[in-house]
Amino acid sequence: MIQISNYTFGYEGSGKLALDNINVQINRGEFVGVIGASGAGKSTLMMSINGIVPHYYPGDFYGSVSVAGLDTVDSSCVALSRHVGTVLQDPEAQIVTSFVEDEIAFSLENFNVPSEEIDKRVTEALELSGISKLRKKSTAQLSGGQKQRVAVASAIALRPEILVLDEPTSELDPLGSQLIFETLSLLNREYEMTIVIVEQKIMLLSQFCSRMITLANGQIVTDLPTAETLKQSGRLIEMGINCPRVVSLARELEKEGLYEGGYPRTVLQAEKMVRGIVEK
Ligand code: ADP
Ligand code: MG
Repeated sequence: MIQISNYTFGYEGSGKLALDNINVQINRGEFVGVIGASGAGKSTLMMSINGIVPHYYPGDFYGSVSVAGLDTVDSSCVALSRHVGTVLQDPEAQIVTSFVEDEIAFSLENFNVPSEEIDKRVTEALELSGISKLRKKSTAQLSGGQKQRVAVASAIALRPEILVLDEPTSELDPLGSQLIFETLSLLNREYEMTIVIVEQKIMLLSQFCSRMITLANGQIVTDLPTAETLKQSGRLIEMGINCPRVVSLARELEKEGLYEGGYPRTVLQAEKMVRGIVEK
């Protein structure tokens, strides 16, 4: 679905590289998490998949990015948006209409989805994003977290083959964040939607994605199954990435020779781990 080969990008006039020789292949139906410290290049990578880079942010572009068989340089953002749904890091930048339901219907209308179908899809997207109550609200009155949910609803209403999301839960509380991930997981399972998501809450992320890509200084430092990535938590901390506390706990217990086995990803799993040790 996504093939990135020897890809290097530097924003015009910045005098440095935002991404440096990236090679990634993502297959249909994968659920991939992207992590890394601030400035690592996560957003640039997301914007390279939907063509915003280089179409809206020009710069030095080397190598190739191909998405659903389309080369992102040769294809317009509109052509790419038929395949790739996007949730930008700043939801403000994405909202174009005055009312929530119009916002979600907007791209469906642009893609000539029949009007009865539009209504159905808007209702479904609102439900899946947990914001049915906001349907008639003015977009100007929404909180940051509500805007994020509207952006998610707009993206999933199109039922794209690929969804790229850049920190879509940064302004949501734990329950709201969990709901977004459960929705993504459902879309991933039901429609084999390919999902690439940047997320700071690694513990939450690790419960849903099967693979994690770690970026540092514009380069990929690890690209591994989630369990393997968590095992490298020492390295993650060095890179300025917050490691889930349950993983740190398992590492400490492992160092003391008290525990061996997989790392927990939830508090419940951590409890089971600790009980196992105590009861031994
Ligand atoms: P992240 O999302 O991981 O925080 P970004 O992709 O936003 O990282 O940024 C990667 C690098 O590119 C940083 O050094 C950042 O300063 C630079 N950068 C990001 N956006 C722009 C821009 N519009 N113009 C110039 N440099 C940029
Ligand atoms: Mg970013």
